[in-house]
Amino acid sequence: MKLESALKYFNPKSQSITDSSRATGSESLTGTDLMGAIGFCQSKSPFGISAVMAKTGNSEHDAVRTVQQLMQYANRSAPKLLRKAAGAKLGRCLAVLSKLAFDEYARSASTMEECHLCNGVGLIEVEREVVRYAGHINMSGDEVIPPRMAKELVREKCIHCNGKGHVSARCRCNGTGRVRDLEASRKACAPVDHDCERCSGRGFKRSPSSAAHRAINALLPDLTQSSWSRNWKPFFESLVTKCEIEESHADAVFRKATK
Ligand SMILES: [Zn+2]
Ligand SMILES: [Zn+2]
Repeated sequence: MKLESALKYFNPKSQSITDSSRATGSESLTGTDLMGAIGFCQSKSPFGISAVMAKTGNSEHDAVRTVQQLMQYANRSAPKLLRKAAGAKLGRCLAVLSKLAFDEYARSASTMEECHLCNGVGLIEVEREVVRYAGHINMSGDEVIPPRMAKELVREKCIHCNGKGHVSARCRCNGTGRVRDLEASRKACAPVDHDCERCSGRGFKRSPSSAAHRAINALLPDLTQSSWSRNWKPFFESLVTKCEIEESHADAVFRKATK
């Protein structure tokens, strides 16, 4: 059994997994077994299980615990050049990167994120030529007073999010992560699917690391673009990957325990 589905079983509506009263009733035996397996998993793969629990349960407590563990890992694995560039602000930089890397890991196809164009407002300010005064034309058709125009900041509906202020992270493959391979389907005379190239089978878009870049830039104003791309960005991505690795480790332990 997959760990994520086991947690969802206890956790149908983002209720805390520790609420064991959920596991009563006709399925209590299975519930107890699952609880045992989860407990075993917790001892063998604490990082992984808190990551999955934070992702599926939306629990603030699990999220905080996962970020803490990620920060410890970040502290151990931060490359030398990055440490040097961050100097005394290393701790704060690692805290910011860990938090954002966790958010990135926890994103899913159902995630709604703030629209980056309007910052979640749904409206954008644009400069437009506005008629301030229509002008005056006398009886014989001569312009007595010319119309007066002025440039003005007006608020218009944001086109990117259609005024909603948020956009879905769902990929164009509809969040399935799979797309039909037309060529192969024709050859096989049967529907053949392959992983969606746009999202690498994830079903949702990874957000660009620009949020992390902005956050680090605020802490380190001297950060250059090349230093970001060469040292910081790969490190940030490795933190996201670390969560995924820990998740699959916890998942493997859990599968073994429930076999
Ligand atoms: Zn918008
Ligand atoms: Zn896709």
